[in-house]
Amino acid sequence: MKSAAETQAVIEALARQHPDADTELHYRSAFELLVATILSAQATDAGVNNVTPALFARFPDARALAGAPAAEVEQLIHSTGFFRQKAKALMGMSRALVEHHGGEVPRTMEALVKLPGVGRKTANVVLGHALGVPGLPVDRHVLRVSNRLGIADSDDPDRVEQQLTGALPPGFWTRASDTLILHGRRICKPEPLCSQCTAAEACAFRAEAVDRAEPVTPRTTKRRQAARAKPAQKPAASRRR
Ligand code: SF4
Repeated sequence: MKSAAETQAVIEALARQHPDADTELHYRSAFELLVATILSAQATDAGVNNVTPALFARFPDARALAGAPAAEVEQLIHSTGFFRQKAKALMGMSRALVEHHGGEVPRTMEALVKLPGVGRKTANVVLGHALGVPGLPVDRHVLRVSNRLGIADSDDPDRVEQQLTGALPPGFWTRASDTLILHGRRICKPEPLCSQCTAAEACAFRAEAVDRAEPVTPRTTKRRQAARAKPAQKPAASRRR
């Protein structure tokens, strides 16, 4: 795995390629971003942005959403998918904000992850973008791209968060996550566009593919992950004569 200095250099190279990296969710407050991030599970950011203006116009804060009729919330967020579970999570989260935090979004990871429907990724999105507290959300794009680049070495989002936050200065955490997400969406897709990548020279995954003179494809990724997971074979025991 790369050193902290190498990790910073890789992220800086990608940041030059994606100077516009930021969350694509629309919000005006920490509460709105919390709601939008919960809605973004299994949905596109554009799809969430389509429904939130009407949702926030009807239920503008935690107190309003806590007491909302479930059927009305479900109807407003229907197009984002899993609308029953999401409506339940939004209303439960809003009730917890009212009961335990005076209707405000708390500013710590510990308090955020106790809210219904809120995990570390969602908490980090809100901390980093709306509350000015360093946070590094790890989604599927961050997982894929950071492992390919060799700046992380795990399929576990919590472990990758630890590895990246250990290598990068706190003030850069959220930007680094946004950059890796955008790179994963635009360039380092499951079938990556390596010829367009500003970090290609430093990429462990591409270097392996070039060594083997084979194209970088999702199948290549799976085969290498399986090879890494396979325990080293013991030498065969010598036969007794
Ligand atoms: S070189 Fe290819 S595999 Fe490596 S980060 Fe860039 S796009 Fe992804």
